[in-house]
Amino acid sequence: MSIDSAYQSGRHFLQIPGPSNVPESVLRAMAQPVIDHRGPDFPALTFRLLEKLAPVFNTKSSIFIYPASGTGGWESALLNCLSPGDKVLAFETGHFATLWKEVAEKLGLHILWIPGDWRHGVDPSVVEEKLSEDSKHEIQAVLAVHTETSTGVTSRISEIRCAMDKVRHPALLMVDAVSSLACTEFRHDDWGVDVTVSASQKGLMLPPGLSFNAVSEQALARSKVNHSRLSYWQWEAMAKNNAKGYFPYTPSTNLLYGLDEALNLLLAEGLDKVFARHARLAAATRAAVNTWGLENVCMNSDEYCNSTTAVFVPEGFDADELREVIRGRFNMSLGTGLGKLKSSIFRIGHIGDFNELMLMGTLSGIEMGLKIVNFPYLTGGVQSAMAVLSKS
Ligand SMILES: *Cc1c(COP(=O)(O)O)cnc(C)c1O
Repeated sequence: MSIDSAYQSGRHFLQIPGPSNVPESVLRAMAQPVIDHRGPDFPALTFRLLEKLAPVFNTKSSIFIYPASGTGGWESALLNCLSPGDKVLAFETGHFATLWKEVAEKLGLHILWIPGDWRHGVDPSVVEEKLSEDSKHEIQAVLAVHTETSTGVTSRISEIRCAMDKVRHPALLMVDAVSSLACTEFRHDDWGVDVTVSASQKGLMLPPGLSFNAVSEQALARSKVNHSRLSYWQWEAMAKNNAKGYFPYTPSTNLLYGLDEALNLLLAEGLDKVFARHARLAAATRAAVNTWGLENVCMNSDEYCNSTTAVFVPEGFDADELREVIRGRFNMSLGTGLGKLKSSIFRIGHIGDFNELMLMGTLSGIEMGLKIVNFPYLTGGVQSAMAVLSKS
């Protein structure tokens, strides 16, 4: 800390929907000395991580770990399975879906883009319709973002797979589970997902810097015949090295120490309890928003999101002004509106290492902020959230 910047006492509330708060024990685990990633001690760490990641993705097939942000995981999924000119079906559910589509475009893929209003998830009946129209099976992959962090909307992945199976279409299903993994139930194998993309800095309670691909047998087979433009992201090289406990290039050693500890925490709490905790905190948040008389971006209660709630401020008011006042007065960061929702919404992250009293602090900060900026709202949101959380 420089003496020129004002110190804000107490703990900073990092309530953006990722990067999320990192538990103390994870921070401490990362402070261990770096070891030789080609040395004899490394394989035990790799094997332990892959074993503990399997129940988090709910998969028996391969999981690959990259030193990259989530965007790298998107690129890896597309590059390993697809070639320029291949057709993919993708849905405009929000900002992250749009960014993934832009990566696909830059890689030369041909996108069948289904526009959306940023308030709904992927509609499984549209998946069915578009795939049934594709009688020549030109569409090679369907892309879906599980939890759209920009809008707080969760798509129903198992229903998307059902729609694909109903029309017997062979396209691969690729899912972005960056902000849903370890927050909401996710079943890579049972839902027939071919590639799951995730990253370290959301439900996994780590700093940014790791991305993941969980990969089905079909997707792995596709990658083996698709050598043309694969180097850094090549699954085959990862698989060969991982089998011996190593990586094809230097992994993020200290983030892997952190991952080891974060997985211990998640598995010790129990994943079902982790999901129930997120669901409870999300329900309390929605109760507060509702009482304030503000509008949730997510319109369909089947698509409510465990990790983020995105909230419209009243028409004509600036959500970033509210966020700025709350940051200055109460030392709390809330998520900004992304893309076309800039200034009209703020986002409350209730994700990762988070509990009831932290949520009550968060909601109190927002309710005080609403009063200070003098936006039209109704009081009592904090009370409504307490009523949800104190149910026995
Ligand atoms: C955070 C996030 C990403 C990851 O983006 P990076 O900034 O590249 O780590 C991707 N998809 C979703 C849904 C996200 O929430």
